[in-house]
Amino acid sequence: MNIVDIINKKRLKENLTDEEIKYVVNGYLNDEIKDYQMSSLLMAILLNDMENSEIYSLTKYMADSGTKLDLSPLGNNVVDKHSTGGVGDKTTLIISPIVASCGVKVAKMSGRALGYTGGTIDKLGSIPGFQVNLTEAEFLNQVNTINVAITSQTEDIALADKKIYALRDVTGTVESIPLIASSIMSKKIALGAKKLVLDVKVGEGALIKNLTDARRFANLVIDIGKHNNIKVVCLLTNMDYPLGNNVGNSLEVEEAIDILKNNRQGNLTDLCIELASYMVSLGLEIDYSNAKEKVLESLQNGQAYNKFLELINYQHGDISKLPKSQLKYEIKSMTKGYLTDIDADKLGVLSMHLGAGRQNKEDKIDYSAGIVVHKNINDYINDGEVIMTLYTNKEITNIDNSIFKISNNKINNNQLIYEIIK
Ligand code: URA
Repeated sequence: MNIVDIINKKRLKENLTDEEIKYVVNGYLNDEIKDYQMSSLLMAILLNDMENSEIYSLTKYMADSGTKLDLSPLGNNVVDKHSTGGVGDKTTLIISPIVASCGVKVAKMSGRALGYTGGTIDKLGSIPGFQVNLTEAEFLNQVNTINVAITSQTEDIALADKKIYALRDVTGTVESIPLIASSIMSKKIALGAKKLVLDVKVGEGALIKNLTDARRFANLVIDIGKHNNIKVVCLLTNMDYPLGNNVGNSLEVEEAIDILKNNRQGNLTDLCIELASYMVSLGLEIDYSNAKEKVLESLQNGQAYNKFLELINYQHGDISKLPKSQLKYEIKSMTKGYLTDIDADKLGVLSMHLGAGRQNKEDKIDYSAGIVVHKNINDYINDGEVIMTLYTNKEITNIDNSIFKISNNKINNNQLIYEIIK
């Protein structure tokens, strides 16, 4: 087999065989296929698409390219959750204890960096003492004992995806539906998931920009799931605006605590309740409305918050000592009207400059840095009113004031959940 012939085939919009895809994945992993050849093939895939049979093969060989986790000793009420990514997305921190307090097991392996904001592991890392590197035995044992553990993903899960994703990131080939679907599902297969709730972000701040693409993506991951004995439920959710009000690691932990104490309403709380309800429904095999009752009850009677404290305690964290920044800047509105847009990308970039995210892989995160936005979409803002507060340990001079859009009229489309596909 020859990689140039395979690239040419895809350039001519022909389907690749299972054998050819196996050759590509393994050849790239062991350096027989070079970065420039793989980039060319990835771009041909992005432009000319793939058939489902090709996507199943790609997913399978990427899943097989590293170690695999076996969660079967935990029983069949283990449910995983994944998001295709968004600014201020701290849903894992909130949902995992809620779902665990309802009797469903959450064995969560999470990633570190997600673009310019921290990943779940960075957020948890801001809690002094919290152990994010559990051994496999500690991880499984904790899930068995308290229903929930969150640890960092071992380095050798789906190795081919890791190498291909790093290349996609620097060659403009991230935004391809077959490549995103196979990347996410290869990791889920390797991590031993059997039931999965997937938060498919749609909109300005997301990888998938419109509902047509989101529907194709959802149906595709459901099909990949069926091929691999994984039950998948997809929620297509709005990512035109950031989720919740806080961006930055310890600030996001504070917001999560507020929600778990049932002290905060808004789009983040609503989304967490929906995702948790679908997870409980899948895990306990009950219908959605019964599951939602359990979720709301657990938030109201304090069980969800108690489970969070148990999780933190088991992994040796201390939430009474969350880091605080030295400097604080209040940013005021220079006009009045309704808040009609918050640019999630710009907010993420600003937060990174304050120290909350990494510009380069090696950068050290300032856990205390970040932003609190005091207003929500369609809120009225007066001239001179504080719209956001920046927390940092750096002197800041230039603030991008095009993050917010303020208009005379409210916006009509502020829908949070577009569709559920299962
Ligand atoms: N997240 C992943 O894990 N892979 C992608 O390709 C995109 C988002």
